[in-house]
Amino acid sequence: MTRKTPIQPEFLDALLRERIHDESLRGNIRRATQTSLNKRRAVVSDYEDWETLRQLAHDVKSHVMDHLPVYMARFAQRAREAGAVVHYASTAEEASRIVCDLAEETGEPLVVKSKSMTTEEIELTPALERRGLRTVETDLGEYIVQLAKEPPSHITAPALHKSRGEIGALFAEKLGIPYTDDPQELTDIARKILREDFLEAGVGISGVNFAVAETGTICVVENEGNARLSMSLPKRHIAVMGMEKLLPDYSSLALFLNLLGRSATGQRLTCYTSLITGPRRGKECDGPDDLHIVILDNGRSRMLQDDRLREALYCIRCGACMNVCPVYQKVGGHGYGSVYSGPIGSVITPVFRGEERSKKLPYASSLCGACAEICPVKIDIHHHLLDWRRRIVSHGHVPLRERIAMRLFLLLARHTTLFDFAGRLGRVFSPLLRGKDGGLQVPVWSRTRRFPALPQQSFKQMWREKNGRS
Ligand code: SF4
Repeated sequence: MTRKTPIQPEFLDALLRERIHDESLRGNIRRATQTSLNKRRAVVSDYEDWETLRQLAHDVKSHVMDHLPVYMARFAQRAREAGAVVHYASTAEEASRIVCDLAEETGEPLVVKSKSMTTEEIELTPALERRGLRTVETDLGEYIVQLAKEPPSHITAPALHKSRGEIGALFAEKLGIPYTDDPQELTDIARKILREDFLEAGVGISGVNFAVAETGTICVVENEGNARLSMSLPKRHIAVMGMEKLLPDYSSLALFLNLLGRSATGQRLTCYTSLITGPRRGKECDGPDDLHIVILDNGRSRMLQDDRLREALYCIRCGACMNVCPVYQKVGGHGYGSVYSGPIGSVITPVFRGEERSKKLPYASSLCGACAEICPVKIDIHHHLLDWRRRIVSHGHVPLRERIAMRLFLLLARHTTLFDFAGRLGRVFSPLLRGKDGGLQVPVWSRTRRFPALPQQSFKQMWREKNGRS
């Protein structure tokens, strides 16, 4: 079941134009994000000191980032003592190769995967399938998008853009079953198919939500039990984690579990919280024979060295900033053309994919600040987007005509006489551009917005007339 690779940024404009007019897509996204936000609001009100918790989480992450090499070494040592094998990968390609080699050497033909954005980042599923390994996504949302051959459109809800009718039609087409749009029936069908795969698979792959340095434990949270089955039934478990997932100890884990469930799905705690320290030992009846943990850098070290951008490494991938973002609600996750979508995706993607190929992403924001307000770890997201815009402009990644226009504006804004003269010219010649609606037909701008006609007098002239002085 090969999945399409993420949408290429070159096609972003065309895709955005298509998405923005897709009423059904917008309806699906609006319903899903609003439900999630309402549920979040209800459980966040449990805490009078929610703001204190957010600040605490921010401070813990800041401390971990300041001492990342120490915590990483401690985590690796404890994990090895517990029997795990720890691998480091500096790039996405290296991580993907390590995981593929580990999966291939078992000789098992079937791999089950639980939802993990880090494995999306390293494009693992297509790589495994190129090696001839059948790879099954076991999270229901991921299973749906895998059937549809689409990338996930949200960090925590991969199939959020699809209505139940669309999922029913997809199941009927791909699985050859009678059409139904009943969510329970659809879930039961997927569960029945996936159970067989769990029992047959020799390799299970998961992401990691948090990694506890004091014990070498990885923590995975979920609601369906599929991650737990992927990690405990197959003989080999491979966990892929970004190096920013580290936490010092169990007390900080308790804080983050409280924040993640509430912010992601509006739950006080997710249904399953699995804590794994090493593979199965002695007489334990479940768990893998061996556990491999792949720690991924892929640009994170660069972020760490950047005083401002390092804050983006605090992200716990809850998805709340997407749910609240007015741009995300219009275009959905696929509209961004990157693995990580929404406001935080636009902050971190230029690091992973390069500035030139991501130059439009920081502009996919109204800069309203709703993302920063909701973020459980207090990342100043909209100011990071603004920083990226500055970098993109100062590194020359903007079209020539835009650069010329901005220089011209700068010149006019700096010289009053020139500004007045340009205003007079505009008032004389602008009627030539007047359209049927009375507004001006300005190239590009008027495609989607109305440009009002210029007034007969400038503000200065009106002021003088009214007050009788200059
Ligand atoms: S930036 Fe904040 S709100 Fe957005 S996904 Fe990360 S933790 Fe959640």
